[in-house]
Amino acid sequence: MSEELKELAYKNRWIINNRWANEAYQVDASQVADRLVALATGQQIDTDSTLSSESTVDVESYGTFEPPEWQVKVEPFPIVGRRFTRDSFIKYVRWVKDNETYTWAPSGITMHHTGYPDLTMRPNGFTEQHMLNIRHGYFTQRGWNRGPHIFTDDNGIWVFNPLSARGVHAVFFNNTRYGIEMLGNFDDLDEFRNPRGETARSNGMFAAATLMRYAGISSAKLNFHRHDPETDKKCPGKHVDFSAFEDEVLSILVTL
Ligand SMILES: [Zn+2]
Repeated sequence: MSEELKELAYKNRWIINNRWANEAYQVDASQVADRLVALATGQQIDTDSTLSSESTVDVESYGTFEPPEWQVKVEPFPIVGRRFTRDSFIKYVRWVKDNETYTWAPSGITMHHTGYPDLTMRPNGFTEQHMLNIRHGYFTQRGWNRGPHIFTDDNGIWVFNPLSARGVHAVFFNNTRYGIEMLGNFDDLDEFRNPRGETARSNGMFAAATLMRYAGISSAKLNFHRHDPETDKKCPGKHVDFSAFEDEVLSILVTL
């Protein structure tokens, strides 16, 4: 058996045992993970092992949901680059959890504002072309081959970096946290008070709560970019209060 298979089997089992949101499905998935590890490492397989005959995939959770194709599918720097409604974002997060191979083990969420561009520069929010442009800018100007996982605007929730892969958004948090960028410059009071900015923040809160509920992230693991000791930015904006923001995320979480 290949080393890669062993590594994937162990990682898969760790994620199921430590990052699973729905305990009812964790039991079945955990048994599958044990057998996969046994197969990958050539251990004796217990044929009497009582695997449930029911499917371990929660098909009902996303029904006939078809995920959109990634805009850029190849290395270096693949991006999803697609917009989701709140409802389809929930389905997508659940679909990814069941169908993509995670190459990292996320345990938290870090919130950002875009700052530049601000709301005035994106009067109609983002487009798919903007996602490609952001990728191009990160790649050619900053030398990144990953970016934040999510952008939100007043129209919805954009998945940028694949959710199953580590992103780049805050030096100290890249290894462990999803990055969510909300459109606007919330150091500026007009942008903060703009209803479009409020909607972008509200969509950011919804995205964070969804990752907590459906991607196994603890509700205690939300923070702001400005909590990164490696930055002197006020991100996600000096007018955004952390406690009030966190309270709103948690109040959304209980509705999911
Ligand atoms: Zn930031």
